[in-house]
Amino acid sequence: MRCRRCRGSAVIELRRHNAAFCRECFVNHVREQVWRAIADQGMFAHRDRILVAVSGGKDSLALWDVLLELGYRASGLYIGLGIGEYSARSGERARAFAEERGAEFVFVDLLQESGFDIPTAGKKGSRSTCSVCGLAKRYMFNRVALEGGYDVLATGHNLDDEAATLLGNTLRWQTEYIARQHPVLFAEPGFVKKVKPLYRLSELETAAYSFLRGIDYVVEECPLVAGNTQLRYKEAMNLLESTSPGTKAQFFLGYLERAAALFEEAHRAELGPCEQCGQPTTGRFCAFCRARAQIRGDDTARVPEGRAS
Ligand code: SF4
Ligand code: ZN
Repeated sequence: MRCRRCRGSAVIELRRHNAAFCRECFVNHVREQVWRAIADQGMFAHRDRILVAVSGGKDSLALWDVLLELGYRASGLYIGLGIGEYSARSGERARAFAEERGAEFVFVDLLQESGFDIPTAGKKGSRSTCSVCGLAKRYMFNRVALEGGYDVLATGHNLDDEAATLLGNTLRWQTEYIARQHPVLFAEPGFVKKVKPLYRLSELETAAYSFLRGIDYVVEECPLVAGNTQLRYKEAMNLLESTSPGTKAQFFLGYLERAAALFEEAHRAELGPCEQCGQPTTGRFCAFCRARAQIRGDDTARVPEGRAS
């Protein structure tokens, strides 16, 4: 196998692009895809302060690495979820990555900040573990980014993540979620701008990039992942991709080109401040404060479930 660009010997084949690359050209290919995503979608400029949400896994560390290599002012934010050894190891990887590169690293402990950790939340609340975990992470990302005065929050969602999410939302016709599924969510009062610069790259590509760049990421999966429905949608997409390479890209990138604007138009919700924490919500209390009240058994924000915020 020869590299498509330099004809050197290839180390990776990408069936979707019908191409193979050598190490150096592949690393450049990944950086170009990220650069193109940033430019096409107007994600941020070199003067902006970017907060990268890092989990210690391959995607978020690959993203942080690419942004630093492209000369962006990128700091990392790690949320300690309290998931035993898994959290300890992934936090160490993220911190070590930052130290090696002299990058700013922000650590937030969920238990200290909110009075609960994810294993407790999964047992006590009405949401599934992964659902409350996702909610807590989104809430903390937004709060830390706003309080720290960052211009934009970047997450490591890749093409596989986005295709799987779109499939799940489409199967249930959750049009409000579909409307918000875009690589850029612009800042609104109470919400920092959010971007997904890896949306053009598959999981295979981010894993290969991390490996070829020698990034020491946490390989093991979260021990609580079993109930994660997203995984089943990923498996379904992988099955389709294996017989028809390019299916994920056609599905998600096709959605962005053709349908995203239509959905967005249809769903513009009225937001006001949460009576408990001040973050924007469609009801009296935001979803995070409602979940926290339920987990901790206090009555302050225990109103009937309103619309999700
Ligand atoms: Fe959180 Fe679920 Fe991911 Fe574990 S698998 S980190 S619980 S969302
Ligand atoms: Zn090459």
